[in-house]
Amino acid sequence: MAINDPCIISVAITGSGTTLAQNPNLPCTPEQIATSAIESWNAGAAIAHIHVREADGTPTHNMDYYREIVERVTAESDIVLNLTTGGFTGLEPHKRLETLTLEPELGSFDAGSMNFGEGVFLNPPSFLREMAASFHEYNVRPELECFDVGMIYNCLGLIQEGAIEGPLWWQFVLGVKGGAPATPKVLLHMVELLPPDSQWSAIGLGRGQLPMNTMAIILGGHVRTGMEDNVYYRRGELATGNAQLVERCARLTRELGREVASPADARRQLKLKGGLGVRG
Ligand code: ZN
Repeated sequence: MAINDPCIISVAITGSGTTLAQNPNLPCTPEQIATSAIESWNAGAAIAHIHVREADGTPTHNMDYYREIVERVTAESDIVLNLTTGGFTGLEPHKRLETLTLEPELGSFDAGSMNFGEGVFLNPPSFLREMAASFHEYNVRPELECFDVGMIYNCLGLIQEGAIEGPLWWQFVLGVKGGAPATPKVLLHMVELLPPDSQWSAIGLGRGQLPMNTMAIILGGHVRTGMEDNVYYRRGELATGNAQLVERCARLTRELGREVASPADARRQLKLKGGLGVRG
């Protein structure tokens, strides 16, 4: 990582936990999700992280929806696609891995088990190894999602075993109830634990989003924003959509003296395969 590298903005379009009741602008249908990803790309996002839902907002695992989104987005943009393997609470772990069969450039790799809100997110060691093997099989780069310090060590163990290979791309997810809080000290500590040649990005949930994004820009990391993580633009004001949140990150990045990474920059920085038939 380097402070002068262009800052990669990831946008997490819809997730599985945010509800339409929290923000009616939440994209839900495949068309809405694809449109929001393209708008976010126009606003400066280099990576779009994708979950799928039914039109009423219910989280689902309909692979046809994923296919439709991939087709729509790649037809109109060169944004890097990061498909979830986290799915939603209650989805059977092996089902979660089906998104890898679409061979996206990136997939989220949830690096351990934890209490998650009022539920439990299960990713036991045997499943982490299976998941790593699936990423390998479909040649998908894992985005190592660490919700707490211990999950970094889970990944370091897998790297040592050879189950995960570099270049390493980490995502620190801070502020989930049950995980590490979104504070500057926690972020600094997690960054200090990374092996050399790592690239990393930070997420803060809810009101932690803007501070963690800003910290990451200053530290030479990268940022994730979007309605999976936060539904407000500022206190008491709902976000109008993902592009609004991306625009602010792009503006902040430039104000703080860094460039905003294009998808081509992100592919170069993360050494991605540039697949899925995207142009450029
Ligand atoms: Zn997600």
